[in-house]
Parts: sequence; structure tokens; C-alpha cells
Amino acid sequence: MRQWIKNPLAILAPEAEGGVVIEDGRIAECVAAGQQPSQPVDRTFDASRHVVIPGLINTHHHFFQTLTRAHPAAINKELFPWLTALYPIWARNVTPETFRMGTRLALTELMMSGCTAASDHHYLFPAGLEDAIDIQVEEATRLGIRMTVTRGSMNLSQKDGGLPPDTVVQDEDTILADCERVLARYHDRSEGSRIQVALAPCAPFTVTKRLMRESVALAERFDCRLHTHLGETIDEDDYCLHHFQCRPVDYLEECGWLNDRVWLAHGIHFNDDEIKRLGHACVGVCHCPTSNMTLASGQCRTKELEAAGCPVGLGVDGSASNDNSNLMESLRHALMLNRLTYDAASVTHHDTYRWATEGSARCLGREDIGAIKPGRQADLAFYTLDELRFSGAGDPLAALVLCGAHTADRVMIAGDWTVEDGRPVHLDIDRLRAEHGAAARRFLESF
Ligand SMILES: [Zn+2]
Repeated sequence: MRQWIKNPLAILAPEAEGGVVIEDGRIAECVAAGQQPSQPVDRTFDASRHVVIPGLINTHHHFFQTLTRAHPAAINKELFPWLTALYPIWARNVTPETFRMGTRLALTELMMSGCTAASDHHYLFPAGLEDAIDIQVEEATRLGIRMTVTRGSMNLSQKDGGLPPDTVVQDEDTILADCERVLARYHDRSEGSRIQVALAPCAPFTVTKRLMRESVALAERFDCRLHTHLGETIDEDDYCLHHFQCRPVDYLEECGWLNDRVWLAHGIHFNDDEIKRLGHACVGVCHCPTSNMTLASGQCRTKELEAAGCPVGLGVDGSASNDNSNLMESLRHALMLNRLTYDAASVTHHDTYRWATEGSARCLGREDIGAIKPGRQADLAFYTLDELRFSGAGDPLAALVLCGAHTADRVMIAGDWTVEDGRPVHLDIDRLRAEHGAAARRFLESF
């Protein structure tokens, strides 16, 4: 079946003003302005009301945190006190049922904002939640969204001088055995794959050095990506200097993590020499502007990182430090925050699109998504400019970012519609709102 997405109002792709032809889940052809597809099509979709961009790709999140948004115990705090306030609440209340609701809600919210591929960094494994990764695969599959599930880990808790309570960490052998299990079961490296697995120790400071190193060995064996938090706060620098007598990037290098399988969340507090080393190793960085502003963590040096050779992607980060999962909103925040770091002329909406699409795809190690080009997967987000906020807008692609687009009118993943008229095709959002709200109530009641 060949489908022509015909004559969009605007499209983020060169030589495609006449739209794109979709066949077998891929982009078969870009159609130049005023032209027709080179071969007959079976179906035509009139996109004249739509601004079409590559599906957005989210490269850092903690889905379960949607259950503790705007939690009174945690608001108005920076990272370490924020974490210390929330850990016991999470430890008591994250069960397979609440976790499933948190995952379903985060994925739905992401997709409705125009996201077609998402990564989640799940590192919390209290007793009973051993199947967390399996639950996430089920939920992503049900919704039709691509996902890089990350098998996170923590094996240093309060008894070892770490931040997390003893009940949410696991021992090294349990973690490594489960990493191997989920890699063998779910990691699909084929073109157009729906599910990939990455390994993701929560932060180099919540796991042992051996676990960091063993994670690299497993990643090489299974050809998967590696992910962790790094360079988020000054507190982290101090912790690292005190415990390891070196800075976080030095420690990362000691663990064998300065390589091109790795993408880091945040990447704020790097000095010039560290940026050079990270770029030389092609380490990716997921910029999380909303979270960084919420927790007052600082400003990622996106431009220097890209110039040094680092892929830079975009992420909403866990919902408790963003309080929503709207990736389109993060483009606007990225634009504004980076203009404070640099200036108005050197950061444009095109930078934010690049981070959220091609840059994020590179962070996840994927060459089959992240751009509207022949041969790429047909992952597309469609927005209208019908809302009041767009009235009077000139440049449609700039308008999505500057006027604050929130909801995609349509989303296509691998050639299939997953959102139509602003609502998910495979899910009832009113029911989801009620079920997730009920699941989240217990996180407030036990506080
Ligand atoms: Zn995070």
C-alpha cells in the first residue's frame, strides 16, 4: 500500500513541500513542490492543514514518577533533597499495578505531544517489581510506540552511604542476571525495530564500579547502548571528589564508559577539557531543559558539546522533576533556556528540532528514525495551527516552537496512525486519567 501525505502546510524536510509517500512502514519518496509521486498511490491523505515533522524522540525519562507529580514532599527542592524526600514514598508505593499505570500514562502523554520513540530510565526495583521491564515492553507494544527500555540499577543504598533506601536496590548478581535476561528476550537490533534494550546504572554513585564495568561488558556482548545520569549538579561533583578523589567524567572513564555506546542524561557541569574528551569519544548527551530549570540544576552547554562531537538529544526527564511528559513543550523550553546560555541569533527552533529528532536518534544509536528521508521509518507528527495560540503566526515550523504547540493532531509510527484527531487510537484517555489518578492517590495518602 502506497500512501501519499499530500501537500502539507509545512514540513521539516528538504525537497518535500509536496509531501511524502509511505510504503511498507517507511518513507518511500519525498515529493517536491507542485510535483506528483513518481508512481501511482493507493491512498492520499490531504495534509494541507498540517505542519509535519519527524516523530519526536525522548531520550530520558522515569515513567513511574508520573505518580508523584507536584508532590508536597518534594516541590521547591534541588536534586539531592528532592530525591531524599521521594525515595521512601516511591519505595512504599511502586507496585506492578501502579508502575503499569505510570508507564501507560507517560507513554500516552509523550505520544500525544508528537513523540514516536521513547526511552525510559527505570532503576527502582523494590521486591515484587522484578518484571518492570516486561511491563514497559507490554505497554509500549499496546500503544504502538517505539521504545528503548533501559534496565536500570542501583546497588549502593543508605547502608553503604548512598541516597536510596535499602529496600529499592538489588545485589550485583541479581541485576546482571536480569540485564542478560531482558537483553536476550527483548533487544531487537533490526531495522525498524519496536523495542531495544539499553543498560542504565542509575548514576555512577549509586552503583559499584564493578557493576559499571560489567554493564560495559554485557553491552558489548549484546551490542546495546549504555545510559546513566552525569553532570547534573554541583553536589554530584562534590560527592565524587569526596568519595573518589576525582571529577565525575574521570570516574566515568575509570569505569570504561567513555565510548560511543554511551549517552548521558543532563550533562551540565562539564569543563572545557571534559567536553573535549566526551566529544572525542562520541558520548551522547540528553539535554533536559525543563527538569534542569525545575530543579535549578544549571544549563547544559549544548553548542560546545555538539561542536566537540557529542550527539545531543532531548528529554523531558522524570515527571516529578518536570511534572509533565510533553516533549513538544521541551523544545520551547530548550530554545528559551539555550538563549539565556548563548544568544538569540545562535539558537533557533531548528536547533531544538535537531536535538529532539536526529540528535536523539543518535543518542539511541538508531539510523532508521529521526528524519524525513527516503528509507527512514515513517514516524511522523502532524500539528494543526488551529488553536488560538497560533492565530496570526507566520512561519509554521517556527510557530510550533515559539507559540507553544502542545498536542499533535495526528501521529504516525511505522506508517500506522497511533493518534487521530488529538486522541490515541488504541486507548481511552478518560479511563486512563481515572485509573492513573486512583493509582497515584496512594502516593499522597501514605505521605
Ligand atoms: Zn533522570
